[in-house]
Amino acid sequence: MGGRDATMVLLDENGIRCDGRKVDEPRRIMIKAGGLKNADGSAYIEFGDNKILVGVFGPRDVHPKHMSNTDTGILRVRYHMEPFSVGERKNPAPSRREIEISKVIKEALEPAVMLEKFPRTAVDVFIEVLQADGGTRCAALSAASVALADAGIPMRDMVAACASGKVADTIVLDVNNEEDQAGQADMPIGYMPSLEKITLLQLDGVLTPEEYKKCVDVGVQGCKIVYDIQKKALKDKYFGKGDD
Ligand code: UDP
Repeated sequence: MGGRDATMVLLDENGIRCDGRKVDEPRRIMIKAGGLKNADGSAYIEFGDNKILVGVFGPRDVHPKHMSNTDTGILRVRYHMEPFSVGERKNPAPSRREIEISKVIKEALEPAVMLEKFPRTAVDVFIEVLQADGGTRCAALSAASVALADAGIPMRDMVAACASGKVADTIVLDVNNEEDQAGQADMPIGYMPSLEKITLLQLDGVLTPEEYKKCVDVGVQGCKIVYDIQKKALKDKYFGKGDD
């Protein structure tokens, strides 16, 4: 957390946030299924000013072979930020943060993907963050779910993700970059709406037990909004735009 700009008003007297949103309003979300011809499945997401492309490959042979599992398929996830994706150029070498986010996204997707149907194989998910503006792990996780579905990988449900948080002593939906830097808490949530199961929950900051519960509730509501947009992206690709 740590205040970057102490003078910035995070929440005004009318309950409007620094980017003009209401407390329960997510940023603009656009998801497109497909688009990469060399991938088995792909998706592109714009979530506010985040722009992220995901390519899925597999199920395919595992190299090196000893990493394969005779009982089940394995999921491999690489989250990568382009050096130009942030204001201050990011070092192209994999950072601890990218390794951590790759791991949490993989673990958030695993309950959704029916890997047991593909023993000895791997499904690879490559995430390229082209532009980052706070909340990339949630946007990437949501896009990865659509890319997996686009690849025809059998899934129990899609994982939809959205963060909630605490800003100016108020619980808000979908924390933006400024709120993440100067706010009091940030809680990324991944949720499978049809199964009503949370697969990702992280918390940066301090909350009371009541605030914690409210943050989970608000975040889950955000995931449900994202879920509808994920389903629409797949319907638009496979049944044509305009269909419900
Ligand atoms: N960020 C950055 N440089 C970096 C890493 C992150 O400017 O090397 C910014 C980026 O906009 C990112 C935000 O910090 O979205 C918050 O990063 P965090 O680690 O909280 O993950 P995220 O919210 O993206 O899931």
